[in-house]
Amino acid sequence: MAWNRPLIIVLLAVLLALTWWRLQPEDEEIRRSRLIMGTVVEIMAEGLESSKLETAVDAAFAEIARLDKLLSVYHQDSDVSRLSQSDNGSQVTAETAEVLALGLDVALRSGGGFDLTLGGLKTLWGIDGESPSIPRHDAIAAALIGTGPTALTLDGRQVTKRIPELQIDLGGIAKGYAVDRAIAVLKQHGITSAAINAGGDMYLLGQRPQRPWRIGIQHPREKDDVLETVQVSDQAVVTSGDYERFFVQGGIRYHHIFDPQSGFPARDCQSVTIIADSVALGDALATAVFVLGPETGLQLLTQYPQAEGLIVAADGTLHASPGWAHYRAAP
Ligand code: ADP
Ligand code: MG
Repeated sequence: MAWNRPLIIVLLAVLLALTWWRLQPEDEEIRRSRLIMGTVVEIMAEGLESSKLETAVDAAFAEIARLDKLLSVYHQDSDVSRLSQSDNGSQVTAETAEVLALGLDVALRSGGGFDLTLGGLKTLWGIDGESPSIPRHDAIAAALIGTGPTALTLDGRQVTKRIPELQIDLGGIAKGYAVDRAIAVLKQHGITSAAINAGGDMYLLGQRPQRPWRIGIQHPREKDDVLETVQVSDQAVVTSGDYERFFVQGGIRYHHIFDPQSGFPARDCQSVTIIADSVALGDALATAVFVLGPETGLQLLTQYPQAEGLIVAADGTLHASPGWAHYRAAP
């Protein structure tokens, strides 16, 4: 029988390709989730062998837990708790100073819509606890005394309080900052493609030319409906809404984002989504724009060329910043 030369070459080539493919270390994808900072934090990482991915993801979770111990009011000896307990202020770690610097900047630019000094007000409403309730008006007025965008001043790592009673709450920005730092840890471990979602504070790392990151933005009133889909890479997508933590009394929804002017939950939005270059900035802006409402909120965003926003107003209408359309993807 005569050998068919071309056929043998093709067969050999196929065999060689298969062997090469088998010898490659497997590029895997892992997904892990943990309860940290009062929310489920999910990390997906891909592109390395699974043992390397595991190590990197563990280190990223450890970084979030470490930052929680500095930034949370629920840890007795956190920077934030020590600052609240102090009379005039205290020294904080470099990380806390960085969060405060960004938060105070957004506080000033938003005319006080974003406010890091609402700790007393938040405790009063008990919105994170078992039985939240509407406080008395005089108690709200008392909790707002001395609060505002100039109530805290930062000089390096030294923080000064305007009045001793001031209670600090970084709940509107800390989670975002922690996600940024966790992404940095993943990068240090050689990861170039990953996603972190901490209860609506997301970062999507990597270009992924084959399968770009597409994020569906949840409709604030129809839980299973996607309002819009955006396509991003190396960016934060952060949503603040009135639909995750709230209680209803007398037909009115009371949620966890407060208007510092009234001491009541902000009324002008159902949800705000921000696309930004960092999760910390996106987190702070989502909360700030939520408080300011569609018109003033979009004005605030013009100060941040690295951020775009989509607002669902209280009446259900949609308002987007001019650059938002750039990220819109087909649903
Ligand atoms: P989530 O925590 O659901 O991601 P946000 O980022 O909008 O939502 O943060 C809401 C939290 O921010 C509240 O639980 C509270 O700790 C804090 N907060 C509430 N109102 C304000 C405000 N006007 N400015 C800054 N932080 C606020
Ligand atoms: Mg926020």
